[in-house]
Amino acid sequence: MLDPFGRSIDYLRISITDRCNERCLYCMPEGYKGWAKRADHLSAAQLVAVARAAARLGFTKFRLTGGEPLLRDDVVEIARGIGALENLHSLGLSTNGTRLAPLATELAAAGVRSANVSLDALDPATYRRITGGDVAQVLAGLDAALAAGLFVKLNTVLMRGVNDHALPGLVRFAAARRLPIRFIELMPLTRTDVLTPANFLSLADARAVLEADLGPLEALPDYRAGHGPARYHECPALPGARIGFIGALSETDFCASCNKLRLTADGKLRPCLGRHGELDLAAALADDRLEDAITEAIARKPEDHEFHADYHPARPMTAIGG
Ligand code: SAM
Ligand code: SF4
Repeated sequence: MLDPFGRSIDYLRISITDRCNERCLYCMPEGYKGWAKRADHLSAAQLVAVARAAARLGFTKFRLTGGEPLLRDDVVEIARGIGALENLHSLGLSTNGTRLAPLATELAAAGVRSANVSLDALDPATYRRITGGDVAQVLAGLDAALAAGLFVKLNTVLMRGVNDHALPGLVRFAAARRLPIRFIELMPLTRTDVLTPANFLSLADARAVLEADLGPLEALPDYRAGHGPARYHECPALPGARIGFIGALSETDFCASCNKLRLTADGKLRPCLGRHGELDLAAALADDRLEDAITEAIARKPEDHEFHADYHPARPMTAIGG
């Protein structure tokens, strides 16, 4: 389906929970505070019903996210339901990786094809400082995902003075395993005291950090890894490196290629991550009018985000489906 700006919308990101077992500095630094009651979360059957309605409208790409999607007991059931949809092109997962090791095989059997794993640093102290968690669990999860045949990408959020020193090591780690790695500019989706200019590391500065260590990066305009907004580069000095940059703040045409809608864990369709509008699906779920609601959400997609306009999220990214 086309939105009012001619963009083809065929990708639904589904937050299946707003809960998380980590407390990333840039996301929920105080840890989970229980914004939504568990009863407010859509059931597995409801989530699959929304995905099915989207598929009928031509959506072919789906991603389970959160919060930490692997905390939901029924994540495999949800994946199986979406994995069985007709004309499915891809079913992916965004995860912090801490629970991938025990679940990767079952998820792959349920139809999950890919996993974007967050990895902001490799050394345990920096990883713990950023996330509160244990990087060894994530690395075990990565190995399990690869062994299960999932296509894996790494996600690293950029924070000046926190993980800038870790970036070249992350690229070497990714290149050695032939995994694409994407560096993501900090977005205003969390507490404002985290979002200071002092913490913000632009893509340009991150690239300079990488090039000082690894040598020049060269653009790969035709390379794609999945369906996200990353622009990829290679590094001639490091064969196999695929380095993506995602810059919602510094790239002026960031929204031009937007292809997605978001479904929140409590059943709201969100046309844009960086604007407040939401469409409540409660009535549509009750009356079986989901296709109308999805069509309406696409019609409400704005041309671009409001991150530059002193945007303050009304609710955290974990509830929206980052
Ligand atoms: N818990 C999973 C994870 O961490 O990958 C999935 C949900 S998380 C909200 C999805 C992605 O959003 C992660 O790659 C995370 O690093 C990123 N993210 C969270 N807060 C962010 C922020 N303020 N700016 C940029 N990216 C952010
Ligand atoms: Fe949890 Fe992911 Fe947010 Fe980190 S980025 S606190 S792992 S939801």
